[in-house]
Formats: sequence, structure tokens, C-alpha cells
Amino acid sequence: MDPHLFTVDTDPVATAVAQAADRYATRNAASQKQFDLASRYMPGGNTRSVLFYAPFPLAMTRGEGCRLWDADGHVYVDFIAEFTAGIYGHSNPVIRRAIDGALDAGINLSGHNVLEARLASLICERFPSVDVVRFTNSGTEANLMAISAAKIHTGRSKIIVFDGGYHGGVLTFARGNTPVNVSHDFLIASYNDLDSVRALFAANPREIAAVVVEPMQGASGCIEAKVDFLRGLRELARQQGALLVFDEVMTSRLAPGGLQEKLGIHADLTTLGKYIGGGMSFGAFGGRADIMSQFDPRRVGATPHAGTFNNNVLTMAAGAAGLSQIYTADAALRLNALGDALRDRLNRICEENAAALRFIGLGSLMNLQPGTHEIRSTADILPAGNAVKDLFFFHMIENGVYLARRGFVVLSVPIGQEEIDRFVAAFTGFVHKYGHLFPA
Ligand code: PLP
Repeated sequence: MDPHLFTVDTDPVATAVAQAADRYATRNAASQKQFDLASRYMPGGNTRSVLFYAPFPLAMTRGEGCRLWDADGHVYVDFIAEFTAGIYGHSNPVIRRAIDGALDAGINLSGHNVLEARLASLICERFPSVDVVRFTNSGTEANLMAISAAKIHTGRSKIIVFDGGYHGGVLTFARGNTPVNVSHDFLIASYNDLDSVRALFAANPREIAAVVVEPMQGASGCIEAKVDFLRGLRELARQQGALLVFDEVMTSRLAPGGLQEKLGIHADLTTLGKYIGGGMSFGAFGGRADIMSQFDPRRVGATPHAGTFNNNVLTMAAGAAGLSQIYTADAALRLNALGDALRDRLNRICEENAAALRFIGLGSLMNLQPGTHEIRSTADILPAGNAVKDLFFFHMIENGVYLARRGFVVLSVPIGQEEIDRFVAAFTGFVHKYGHLFPA
């Protein structure tokens, strides 16, 4: 379908969104009160931009398994799972025991501890291109360190990133470069467009230190990279003496050894984050031993990498327990198969009801996208679809399913068939009620 043929009956959609928002405000008085209080002390009552939505966000008070309770006492099935960091569910007993054990032995031991090498070994055994690894406190930091490592290793200064890429709070390319970003010399190519990368290499000979790419753009709406595109990046980087950095902060969950394992592509450096810290603050960067050895403190002139909490025992313990006891290779295969089956079911419902909607993504990660045309980059995402996503969001919330306002849906380990059926029933209701406003 030509994307320009996607039509939204704008006024009825806008009216339906306004009515849904009114019902939402009426049902959530305690969340509104909490928001008003928070707004006195934090700009917009918020300390994490992605969590805000108008008229005010829900205030969550409790979580258990894949259930969440809000301040007004509503219970939701959690289909966002802390934007992928919450893969183990809320208060998973295995994670809880690991954290309790770490607490019993004393937090912050002021030195190397015995847990960090355990988590490092689990990560290196799991992700094929990670020979050795170092820890950070967030995915953002992991990417900052990977970029620095690439610049130092190559002696070059320019970094190729992609339009729509998200690599952290100060590495965000949703709409080009922005003043909030760190001031590296970024060159922005088009996602899934190898020619745009070739052109940048040609215009900047022997100046590019690294190509940093998400194998699926998560924050931009689960836009999958074509395998040939990623293979082409691998080849180009090798030919040009630049490093290929896979940001697998979000995608590492999509196969036992991350998306790189499934695709059979070896990055030079890989960044990780989210669930791998067991739900605690976490990030990691690792890869080829010859690149990472610059951080070996025994070397004269070693690259420094500091961070008070890099090896904090709560993260190390929770992360090791999660990878070894819960998100095993089998569990990764099961969860992603569940996601693939859910996405197929949802897309069949769209087709059967002739609604111009579908879910794109891979395995346990997916995003609602209005229209039925191919989405290869953020340029293909239709602005007119935002109101449809708003309507979807309010409808699902009203039906006890919690997800991200942008239509992002994430599975976690405790989600089973009952929760999947609940999601499907709520989405079917959405398509029956509103599908005629965006016909295929
Ligand atoms: N890279 C990707 C692909 C991400 O999705 C995210 C977070 O959503 C980050 C990096 C940043 O991770 P953090 O929020 O832990 O800083």
C-alpha cells in the first residue's frame, strides 16, 4: 500500500481520544493527585521523559509477577515490563533471593567482589562476539564507553549513527542530532540504507571510528534491520578500518545469544543493558579482546573507566541469578516464540477486520503501527498514526492492559496464555470499536 493512501478519519479519532482521556481522568483521581504533588517538586512531575503522557500518567504502587496496581486500585497486566528491563516480572522469587543474599553479605564492599566475574562469565558465554566485558550503570553509559573505546582504538574521531536510533538519554537520534546529546562528531545515515553509509565513508576517508547500530530500532517503533543491511555494515566497517558496534541493549533478549547470534553477524563491540542486570540499574560493553584490552589497568597508559557502582553487588547478584536460572536459552526461545505467535494473531485480527494497522517487531518486542506499507525507517512512520496509537493506549488501559503510549508491547517471563488471551480480547474490542476509522 502507498503510505499516502492511509487515511484516518481525523475528527472522529480526535473526538474518541478526547472522550477516552476524559474517562481516564475520571477513573484515576488518585494518580492525578499524585501527579499534582510531584509537579510541585519536579518539572512536569517527571524524572524520566518516556513515562509522561497527558493528561497525567498513572502512579503505580505495587507489582507482582506480570501484574501492576495503580494508586486508584486498578489492576493491570503489565505488557511494558519496564521497557524491557523487567523481563523477570515483579518480585521474582529467584531475583529476590539473590538480592537478599547480596544484602546479607553487605552492600558496596569497597573492592572487587566475587559476583562480578560470575556475571561477566555468563555474559561472555552467552553472546558470541563478547570475549570480555565491562560493567556500567546504564545502557547510555555503555554506549558512551563503547564510542570512546572505538575512538581510542582506531585513533579516529567520527561516529556513524542512524536516523531514528536511540542509544541513551544523551545519544538520541529520533529527529537528527539534538543539543541534549554529547558532542561527538556524529554523522547520521538512513536506517536500512547501505548507500547512505557508503556515501559517509567516501566523504570521510580514514576518519570514521565506528558505526553504531541497533539491529532492530526499539525506541523508534520496533523497526527491524534487513539482514543484508547489517551484513553490508559488517563488511563496510571491516574494509574501512572502522569498528561495528551493535547496540543490543534492547535486542539481546531476542535470541539466547542476542540478535547477533540469530543473524550470525559478529560485531566488534556490543552494548548491553536492561534485564541483564536482573531489574537493577545496569549496562555493559564488551567485545573483541584486542579492543577491550585497552582498559586492562596493568597496561601502561590504559584507558580509564571509572564508576562507583559499576560492580554493585545487587546488580551483579540479580543479573547472574536471572541469566543462569530464569532467562536460560530455552526460556529465551519460549518467550520469543510466544511473542511471534501473539504478533501473528494480532495481525490476523487487523486483516480480518480490514483495519489499516499491524504490529511490527521481533519475538517478544512489538509495536503497533498504523498503515500496512513496509516500514524500513522512521521516515515511513505516519504522523497521522499517532492519534490512533493514543486511542489504542487508552482503550487497552481501560481494559486492564498496561503498555507504552507509543504502542510498544513487551512480553516478560511470567506472561502466559491467559495474559496473551486477555491482550488479544482487548485488542479485538479495539478493532471492532474503532477499526472503521482507519480502513485498510
Ligand atoms: N540503547 C538502546 C537500544 C535502548 O533501547 C536504551 C534504552 O531504552 C538505551 C540504549 C539506554 O539505556 P538506559 O536507559 O539504561 O540508559
